[in-house]
Amino acid sequence: MHYSLLYIPILCLGLVATNINSGKQDVDTRPNFIIIFADDLGYGDLGVYGHPTIQTPNLDQMAAEGLRFTQFYTGASVCTPARAALLTGRLPVRSGMVNDRYRVLFPPSQGGLPVSEITIPEALKQAGYISAAIGKWHLGHVQGHLPTDHGFDEYFGIPYSNDMTPSVSPGERVKTYPPLPLIRGIEIIETEPDQRLLTRRYTDESINFIRNNIDSPFFLYLPHTMPHIPLFASDDFEGKSSRGLYGDVIEELDWSVGEILQVLRETGLDKKTLVLFTSDNGPWLTVGLDGGSAGLLRDGKGSTWEGGMRVPTIAWWPETIPEGFTTQSLGTTMDLMPTILHLAGIEIPDDLILDGVDLMPVLTDHATAVREDIFYYRGTRLWAARKGPWKAHYITQSAYVGDQPVFHDPPLLFHLDRDPRERFNVAMEEPNVVLEIQDMVERHLATIEDIPSQLEVPEWD
Ligand code: MG
Repeated sequence: MHYSLLYIPILCLGLVATNINSGKQDVDTRPNFIIIFADDLGYGDLGVYGHPTIQTPNLDQMAAEGLRFTQFYTGASVCTPARAALLTGRLPVRSGMVNDRYRVLFPPSQGGLPVSEITIPEALKQAGYISAAIGKWHLGHVQGHLPTDHGFDEYFGIPYSNDMTPSVSPGERVKTYPPLPLIRGIEIIETEPDQRLLTRRYTDESINFIRNNIDSPFFLYLPHTMPHIPLFASDDFEGKSSRGLYGDVIEELDWSVGEILQVLRETGLDKKTLVLFTSDNGPWLTVGLDGGSAGLLRDGKGSTWEGGMRVPTIAWWPETIPEGFTTQSLGTTMDLMPTILHLAGIEIPDDLILDGVDLMPVLTDHATAVREDIFYYRGTRLWAARKGPWKAHYITQSAYVGDQPVFHDPPLLFHLDRDPRERFNVAMEEPNVVLEIQDMVERHLATIEDIPSQLEVPEWD
């Protein structure tokens, strides 16, 4: 694989010297954007990614008509920071959406994504886009931190994880949580909604949003509640998959994707809509059969091994993205912000540090690469870094709440092209690679400022 000249170091990215503005394109030529974000879906959980018993004909077809990534990464290995990364195009350490004790927001949390952050829908608003968030938010649920405070015109969904309720989880703390809220806009419209119906309701809401905005450019952000535990599927799917309930849940998500693509085809929007399907982090391995699979990748949710951060990802846009390709080019959820803004004709403010790069060269020519670096954070600290095929681990820890962290000096070094499961440490054989990565890491860390965490839970201290 080669890395083209299009690769731009992070620091140069805040380069275009104009303010966000509406651009000069005719509104009708602007594409729509749909991001479908599964929760805790593993790299190995889809048919097209090799799962032997979970059936995902719609996602398989989406891949056959679009582009499938084998090396696409999320910005963090747990829910809250992963979502901040996607919507801001920035590592969550830059927005304060990380914490070494409380890794995500909890019902008593008072913080959330700072309003100073520029989100995808906020930027798109300047260009006349209508945006909806439908599903799990998890970037703050108190006033000032809801989706409608961050550029979304509409919101429908559960504002945090579906296990954060006394009705489904044991534990002293959980007992004090309020009943699980279902929110429309900023109002709680139900508590403890029937979770078996969530995937279907999110799908119906999404289809209504698309049909209501056929004539205006839109951004639909659909972060599903599933397959985060506790798992629920509707009557049409429960008990059907030979994988068990986890398979039922994935097969219903697959159905949902098929419904959405079908509406785009029926309304003629398919040729002007970029749809991207991915996951917020790897599978939750510590919940046994209720958790997914990272396939051949090591470990899962919560860790900085590949299984925690590399996620199944399919991009679809008939006639713009060539059909039926699989790319080995690197990509991240943080690349979506600059990709989308570029397509909408919006310039990136020159003082905004982004960790993403425009992925369009990869989407339209699968052989092109636009980035060669990945930074793996756990909480506020950098645990590992990738440069080209090489990955160095400075700290490792297995699973979600596993052993104590292990510090490595020299770091562990793996060649991910030859050793995707990270089994064979070659640091002793490749000292120059270790030094090159160390140099890259030092330049990167010099751009990170120490800012307050939004994820503190004062009443638990
Ligand atoms: Mg998650």
